[in-house]
Amino acid sequence: MTAPLRRACVMGHPVAHSRSPMIHGYWLKTLGIQGAYELKDLTPEAFPAFINNLTDNGYVGGNVTVPHKEAAYRLVSARDQAAEAIGAVNTLWLENGRLMGGNSDTHGFIANLDGRAPGWDMPGCRALVLGAGGAGRSAVYALKQRGAEVDLVNRTLARAQDLAARFGPRVHAHGFDAVPRLLREADVLVNCTSLGLAGKPPLEVDLGPLKPSAVVYDVVYVPLETGLLAAARKRGHRTVDGLGMLLQQAGFGFRKWFGGEPKVTPELRKMLEADIAMKTPK
Ligand code: NAP
Repeated sequence: MTAPLRRACVMGHPVAHSRSPMIHGYWLKTLGIQGAYELKDLTPEAFPAFINNLTDNGYVGGNVTVPHKEAAYRLVSARDQAAEAIGAVNTLWLENGRLMGGNSDTHGFIANLDGRAPGWDMPGCRALVLGAGGAGRSAVYALKQRGAEVDLVNRTLARAQDLAARFGPRVHAHGFDAVPRLLREADVLVNCTSLGLAGKPPLEVDLGPLKPSAVVYDVVYVPLETGLLAAARKRGHRTVDGLGMLLQQAGFGFRKWFGGEPKVTPELRKMLEADIAMKTPK
């Protein structure tokens, strides 16, 4: 008798653009695991009932994306430390019949930075994070955990202030007018706004005041090289793109649902790069 096929999915609204099925499909195939990873478009009204009946719906777990991460945080039975700290869940799995929630965006964010800019976290390191939405929250938590002093800038100042209050004394909230001054002190600059994403306005920041040694990281990965990263590369900064974050966060869920040892290989990255290049308007 064969075991039933283990199925996971990515739950979002909309979700058709998600590249998670490509990543998990690659690992299922290369590791020879019998399983499936699907797209599930769920409205905010349908999401709670769907995850409360995950097994009956045929799934062992899944990823959660916009706009359901905060709802998932509220609906799970228990959460891991990162999800607890951030207030958002991006991975669901079942443990002894209980719905568990985790957040692997923080791991993805920092593993990508470590891989692409080793040594970024020297003592006294100062990070400047632009954007206090979901990605900003993960970045601030991860950077703070690694000992950085964090300046957080957001268009809506109150949102940055809320995060600074949540994360404590080493996180400082500012408006965009403080950016030129903060750039002078930054060892790592991170864009966590949606500016620079294909179809959105560009992020307009003059990198002039930035130290030559500063690392520039953009979590936006469509296009792969955003205007910010192109400008930073031309000035000779080490740059880190957002695709690595997406790839590095995915293994956590895969291990929970399917087991095995998923690896972020050059072949997998190339596959995603090709897909992004093909679907991104020039
Ligand atoms: P979000 O929660 O909606 O937050 C959006 C952020 O962008 C907020 O800080 C918002 O500021 C800011 N923003 C939007 N329009 C702006 C404008 N015109 N001027 C200044 N600031 C503006 O979104 P998110 O989930 O954090 O995602 C942000 C970006 O990160 C997206 O492009 C997403 O694709 C990317 N991302 C990448 C990964 C990855 O794995 N690489 C993971 C997650 C997200 P306000 O608070 O003032 O509205």
